[in-house]
Amino acid sequence: MAKQGNIGVTSQDIFPIIKKFLYSDHEIFLRELVSNAVDATQKLKTLASVGEFKGELGDLTIQVKIEKGKLIISDRGIGMTAEEIDKYINQIAFSGAEEFVEKYKNDAAAIIGHFGLGFYSSFMVSKKVEIITKSYKEGAVAMKWSCEGNPEYDLEETEKADRGTDIILYIDEDNKEFLETTRINSLLTKYCKFLPIPIAFGKKKEWKDGKEVETDAPNIINDTQPAWVRKPADLKDEDYKKFYRELYPMSEEPLFWIHLNVDYPFHLTGILYFPRIKSNIDLNRNKIQLYCNQVFVTDSVEGIVPEFLTLLHGVIDSPDIPLNVSRSYLQSDQNVKKISNHIMKKVADRLEEIFKSDRSQFEEKWDSLKLFIQYGMLSEDKFYDRAVKFALLKDVEGKYFTYDEYKTLIQNEQTDKDGTLIYLYTTNKNEQYSYIQAAKDKGYSVLVMDGQLDVHIVSQFEQKFEKTRFVRVDSDTIDNLIRKAEQSQVNLDEEQKNALQEIFKSQLPAMEKTEFYVTFEALGEKANPVLLTQSEYMRRMREMSAMQPGMSFYGEMPDSYNLVLNTDHELVKKILTDEESACSEKLQPILSDLKGWKTRQADLREAQGKKKPEEITEAEKKDMENTNHKIDELREQGNAIIAEYAKGNPLVGQLIDLGLLANGLLKGEALSKFIRRSVAIIGSDK
Ligand code: ADP
Repeated sequence: MAKQGNIGVTSQDIFPIIKKFLYSDHEIFLRELVSNAVDATQKLKTLASVGEFKGELGDLTIQVKIEKGKLIISDRGIGMTAEEIDKYINQIAFSGAEEFVEKYKNDAAAIIGHFGLGFYSSFMVSKKVEIITKSYKEGAVAMKWSCEGNPEYDLEETEKADRGTDIILYIDEDNKEFLETTRINSLLTKYCKFLPIPIAFGKKKEWKDGKEVETDAPNIINDTQPAWVRKPADLKDEDYKKFYRELYPMSEEPLFWIHLNVDYPFHLTGILYFPRIKSNIDLNRNKIQLYCNQVFVTDSVEGIVPEFLTLLHGVIDSPDIPLNVSRSYLQSDQNVKKISNHIMKKVADRLEEIFKSDRSQFEEKWDSLKLFIQYGMLSEDKFYDRAVKFALLKDVEGKYFTYDEYKTLIQNEQTDKDGTLIYLYTTNKNEQYSYIQAAKDKGYSVLVMDGQLDVHIVSQFEQKFEKTRFVRVDSDTIDNLIRKAEQSQVNLDEEQKNALQEIFKSQLPAMEKTEFYVTFEALGEKANPVLLTQSEYMRRMREMSAMQPGMSFYGEMPDSYNLVLNTDHELVKKILTDEESACSEKLQPILSDLKGWKTRQADLREAQGKKKPEEITEAEKKDMENTNHKIDELREQGNAIIAEYAKGNPLVGQLIDLGLLANGLLKGEALSKFIRRSVAIIGSDK
């Protein structure tokens, strides 16, 4: 029975679509053809198991071969009769094609899935395809179907010794890569590594006398019984670890794992591993792999699992995830949503179970788990609600607390006068050592928040918990961070403040993208004379902006520090009185002049303030400008005298450097100058 005909495509020829639109995903043809071979073999096994096929199954290995311009995939599955070829290969339901193709022209997977074009994807890489097939049915005649990438095909009887199907691809000029052993090998390893029927490609190789030589044994590229399809009860820890190494050969041992096994309301199996994350590189290198009945589909699982879970490793296998559709479709699919929620719940269950049954193990692994759990808490409310019970905080002593435990710990000591609970934290125990010490001296506890997501966790915490605030230990003086009573007053008049400010301002170093302000506080005689603090708000904005592109405005802002002078301290007082006695003679005339001009400025302001802007005359405007200018000039003169004095007083530079030093800002030349000056001061004390 020879036949020629037209492939049953109703409105449009599919071949141009296959050739043209599916360009980017060419390689998947191999996955499609090998999967068909696996399906045909499994169908035969099923028929045998129910007694419908009574013959010998024999060796069911699928063979992939490269032969003179041809790529051949052979199976010993059910095969096809002429009628079946007609039904399954020739009749392609193809309604509404144009519209659909237009919409998804860049998404090969969607088109292939929609039309069931698995087999036809072979035309992406072939100028001609032949199917030589013989059905398992008794008395079946072998058939040969061939087609050259146009809607005409030939179908004729042929000779074939064995049941099953050979798919013969005549690879076209543009796709010669698919005739290379290494390329096919890597594709088979990528897509077929865990298929349930053995797949042979070439011969196994061996190292002999320092050379790789072929053996007689077939090279089986797949593991037909991967760990996730086996029963958890049959697996030992070592099996899970071994499977992990199979998936990610270069990675460190995982922290722990979850074996997923769901039957209802959808089918899903898989193993998820919690990796040991050391750096961002680890994060991007390994990904969860998605399988459909053991066929690799993708390792970009976004949209199928919640985003934070993409940090996990392992495999998910579900026949219920519509794989050959576009991502946007996936994200709105109800089944996919259910799967995603289910996986999230399982992950939370497992973490909670470990937390409850083995807290010390949980604490030990917390530093590695932290990024992952925090990511989940920040991105998924449902996960937050679960994780808030086992998420941990770590203090500077290395002790771990749940959110509740920590609150109880600090509630009495760290509530300020307005009833706000203040959490103190450090981002660097070494650099912020003296501030941590100051907090400890007060009996306060300090948390370590040095993780990548901690700045966001802090904001989330403040939003979720009422009357709660996080402050970094070095963002202000400890009494200001947790204010227990009204502050003591700074007793300086305006000129004294100006003088002190100028003394220090003039000697502060110029640093790129760094700003300093000089402020005063009465911190008591025993506290440090100077303190360098950084506004909590600005610092956090900068840190967040570093991670969010939309906030680059904050990223552009300079670092701003406050140099807080303790006006109660003897040294600060001494600097001021020394300055007064050293400069008063020179400053007196300037200051009294300044006073006169200031009175004039105030008078002018008052007079002009009573008028509407358009009533102010040019002469009056000039007068005001002139006065302002004069004041600025006198200030500058005065400041120059003060700066000159400050330069000559080593104590000023010394105090500034001490402040910088406590913040890790004193480096290089400045540091060596400081050391020299220190030595000189020590020497002069003798
Ligand atoms: P799908 O696999 O999605 O049904 P395909 O275009 O890949 O779509 O295949 C169409 C049909 O052709 C299959 O459902 C099967 O009935 C038949 N078929 C394809 N390859 C084989 C094979 N190797 N052995 C037996 N039947 C096959």
